[in-house]
Amino acid sequence: MMAPDLTIEDLFSKEKFIFIAGPCAVESEEQVLETARFLKTLGINFMRGGAYKPRTSPKSFQGLKEEGLKILAMAKEETGMNIVTEVMDSDNLTTVTKYADILQIGSRNCQNFSLLRRVGELNKPVLIKRGFGNTIDEFVQASEYISGAGNSQIIMVERGIRTFENATRFTLDISAVPVLKERVPYPVYVDPSHPAGLARYVEPLSLAAVGAGADGLMIEVHPEPQEALSDSKQQLNFKQFELLYKRVNALRDTMSKF
Ligand code: PEP
Ligand code: MN
Repeated sequence: MMAPDLTIEDLFSKEKFIFIAGPCAVESEEQVLETARFLKTLGINFMRGGAYKPRTSPKSFQGLKEEGLKILAMAKEETGMNIVTEVMDSDNLTTVTKYADILQIGSRNCQNFSLLRRVGELNKPVLIKRGFGNTIDEFVQASEYISGAGNSQIIMVERGIRTFENATRFTLDISAVPVLKERVPYPVYVDPSHPAGLARYVEPLSLAAVGAGADGLMIEVHPEPQEALSDSKQQLNFKQFELLYKRVNALRDTMSKF
């Protein structure tokens, strides 16, 4: 029997473990709908997908913009997915807000204080990712810009930081999970995909996050990762994601016994 759909309130209750999954970027209607239908078979109803992409090089795929948001809306309409998508700047805040159920602030905008204030003025959940050059203290202070403007519907996401280590794309700061949970009243999630950089590291980092007490995971999933227009090496295919999903749940079940 499938568990009942989770709601936005469940995000903040911290009683339910939350999976947010979906492609790095929205690329096509087919890609997004196929992914949404797959996630639904697992009982997942929070879907990610960037329509405005913060790419390191201006020559890289920048996202489908509003067309991408419309594709996410189709997935929501058909499958009931709650949509998590990034707002990159104040210029597209109104447009993104129309389509997003949860606004994502990306790592590069963790200290964009004017944008933080703007999303803080809205009555909509905000998922903020740790800046890869920010300390935990700075990350906590970033959340205070949002709450200070009146919005306490905040989810904090550890997504890896820059260190001298370069065997992985970023270094997942697993310590941030228990530390943040002491410092903020908000749910603390982990994005294992961006620090991993490679699909095969995503599962071990996910299990570590669960072991450390994360309230949720945000994971990149693509029907054909090798064809992805961004982050192709780290996105999981459906089979890989399903196995990870089962193992994470098995670990959680075991942990709940003690
Ligand atoms: C993303 O999650 O789409 C993303 C761009 O990640 P980050 O902001 O953590 O680099
Ligand atoms: Mn990505």
